[in-house]
Amino acid sequence: MVTIEEAQRTILEHITTLETEKVSVFQGLNRVTPEDHIAPWDIPAADNSAMDGYAFSHAAQGGDRLRVTGFLPAGEVGLVPVPAGEAVKIMTGAPIPPGCDTVVPIEDVEKEGEWIRFTRTVKAGSHVRKRAEDIRSGDVVIPAGALLRPQEIGMLSAMGTTALAVYRRARVAILATGDELLEPGSTPAPGKIINSNSYSLAAQVLDVGGDPVLLGIAPDALDATCDKIRSGLNADMLVISGGVSVGDRDFVKEAIEKLGGSVTFWKVNVKPGKPLAFAMLQGTPVFALAGNPVGAMVAFELFVRPSILKSMGRRRLFRPMVKAVLQEPAANKGKRPHLVRGIVSLRDDRYHVSTTGNQSSGRLSSMIQGNGLIRLAPEASHAVGDEVEVLLLDWGSEMGEALQ
Ligand code: AMP
Ligand code: MG
Repeated sequence: MVTIEEAQRTILEHITTLETEKVSVFQGLNRVTPEDHIAPWDIPAADNSAMDGYAFSHAAQGGDRLRVTGFLPAGEVGLVPVPAGEAVKIMTGAPIPPGCDTVVPIEDVEKEGEWIRFTRTVKAGSHVRKRAEDIRSGDVVIPAGALLRPQEIGMLSAMGTTALAVYRRARVAILATGDELLEPGSTPAPGKIINSNSYSLAAQVLDVGGDPVLLGIAPDALDATCDKIRSGLNADMLVISGGVSVGDRDFVKEAIEKLGGSVTFWKVNVKPGKPLAFAMLQGTPVFALAGNPVGAMVAFELFVRPSILKSMGRRRLFRPMVKAVLQEPAANKGKRPHLVRGIVSLRDDRYHVSTTGNQSSGRLSSMIQGNGLIRLAPEASHAVGDEVEVLLLDWGSEMGEALQ
């Protein structure tokens, strides 16, 4: 058996970065730039006022009284030098006019007709934003490889960018296998179950920024499985669920081999998600995951998600692993590390975690309740209050809050 990390390393060695495409700056959100973005100009372009107030020359001021002789709203530029002893009313963002170096805010003066009097001392140069204090022309502001978040989108826009190159979204084909499967919308029949894996896996693809392509269901027969697999090979990756164990009707490995792929099959030292096959088939990475609904989702999380991220140029491929305080006893009687679905919450600056109950790998509801995976070592037994390692899956789900 291989460890999770060994299987991840071997798989990721085969994953290459996809091509880039040009998108509008707004569509660049959550994508990665393949190139440096260099500031075409200074921001701000000139010294300007940080406050609504009065601009004047600190050295030439003379006393604590000034005569107001002009007005400068944002968007206008003062060209005439302001004489010594005079001030210009200035709005936030307006360039500091010639002859001035300091701004006194409106709330720090008293008005007396066309004069103002300071109600507190004003330091030279105060309330002036200096030219280029944000970015300087020629600086690499966003380097190649950066993930574009809302702040990068804003900065790109400030630099005048309207369209840019990003790594394109991975197209991930998804194939369910099994004679027992019916598509959602059909009436349940004896011996049959509804195909849910295709949709949980497609949603996992979408969630990570990929583009799922649903191939439907392959029956448990070699030739039909080959046909379905072939139809997925023009995608960037192919994810198959079920048919990868040692059952009489498990044809996935055989089908990949028949199509010319050499399959690496692992019994990964983890529960759930143990049977895992990976192959490069005509240049396309193919993942064959366990059929049971939890095993398929957990294996996607461990092996497919990092691969999709890598193909889209991302560098941080793994979720955070945190330490959490157990809220109930938890034991792993087995010989494999057990990824127990857990409910994680943050209280008093510490993570706390409880399990989602019955951990049968067919119970999709054990994933619904949880937002993390507790990693229990083989034959480990923990008491309430023990610290355990938890892979944080989706902190945004608020499950911890809802159920505690
Ligand atoms: P298999 O690995 O093909 O033997 O599948 C193991 C079990 O997973 C099956 O008995 C089904 O109950 C379940 N299963 C397989 N494929 C799916 C699917 N697409 N949706 C829901 N359950 C599935
Ligand atoms: Mg099957």
